[in-house]
Order: sequence, then structure tokens, then C-alpha cells
Amino acid sequence: MSARRPEAVDPRGRYVPEAGNVPVPNASGNVGARHLHGLPPRRTSLMQEPVLVLNATYEPINVTAVRRAMVLLLKGVAQAEEVHNAEVHSSTHAHKVPSVIRLLAYRHIPQQSRALSRKNILLRDRNTCQFCGKVFPSSELTLDHVLPRSRGGRSSWENLVACCYRCNNNKGDRTPEEAGLKLARKPRPFTLHTSRQLMRLIGHRDERWRKYLFY
Ligand SMILES: [Zn+2]
Repeated sequence: MSARRPEAVDPRGRYVPEAGNVPVPNASGNVGARHLHGLPPRRTSLMQEPVLVLNATYEPINVTAVRRAMVLLLKGVAQAEEVHNAEVHSSTHAHKVPSVIRLLAYRHIPQQSRALSRKNILLRDRNTCQFCGKVFPSSELTLDHVLPRSRGGRSSWENLVACCYRCNNNKGDRTPEEAGLKLARKPRPFTLHTSRQLMRLIGHRDERWRKYLFY
């Protein structure tokens, strides 16, 4: 069983190029892979561009960076489904820069169980106060126990929501009903569905991703 998680997005919705969630068979020398294939140096912006990673079944499972996607392609672990017009040159070949790649062998993605944390709750709720519906910077949001702790409310995905300080004060030690407040939506655990929505946000400028993300 793998503890790795298929998402590669940080709390601000930016992709994390080093997340490295896609397993590489024979990954005895990840460090040397770039050298081996003569890829351009790190830190060029093109090599940091996001690439959508699909499972063998075309299900989107991850976002990685061009540099890592190129390594997967060159190792024969994945194939390019969509490419940019730009090329990168290794010592011997020119390669089209991938936009979407697909793993050749199916990989089982375990049901996600993200850590329950303030960061992940805010990410799930898109930094939106679940009572007034306004978007706030993380620093101006707190977590509200929908059913207050004093009334037996638990700290769980289903009972914690992002909440601005104003609404939190207003609600106090009451249930939303008692305070005359209404939840924007029913709080749920962070799921693969949520990850997919984040992939959409990241990829909204790249038309090539659309058909895989069911826009
Ligand atoms: Zn509010």
C-alpha cells in the first residue's frame, strides 16, 4: 500500500512540481535520470510548467512538472497524449514538450484520506467563509465547529468549516440554525473529486487538458 497521495497542489492551489507522486519503475537513480537523458538544466521556466498525468485508463491522477514528465516519457513509463509546440533538446534528440501524459501501466490510486488540518479545510472550502460566502486570505479565516464542541461537536471533516472571524463571533456557541446562519454547502471529506477541481484550476489556461478533466 502506498502512502503517496495523487494530488500535487499546495494550499494556494499552485501545483507542486517536486511532489513526485508517480512511481517510476527501476527508480534506482532518480537523481541521475536528468543527466542520463541529457535534459536541460533545472529551473528553466518551461521545465516547471504543469503537466497533467493520466492513469492508463485516462483518469487524471496528478499534476507534475515538465521536467519530471520528460523523465517518465524517456523511461518508457508514460506516453505523451498532448504536447506543446515547443521542443526541448536532449543530447541526441528533440522532444516535444508534453502537456498531458499517460502512464502505460495502470496504477491503483487508494481512496484518499488526507490529513485533517486547518490548511486542508481551507483548501477544501476554497478560502470561502461557509456562512457569508466571502473569500478571505487564510490569515483572516478560522475554523468553525458547525455543531459546537461544547455540544459534543467533533473535529471532523463533516463538522469543521472555513469561517471568517465576524461570522464566527456572530455564531458563538450556537448551531447555524440557532444563529440564523446557513451553510454554503455540506462539509465533506477531501476527495479525489476535489483534487480534480484543483487540477481544473491549474489547467484552465491549457485547452489540451479539457477533455481529460470533463469541463
Ligand atoms: Zn463570514
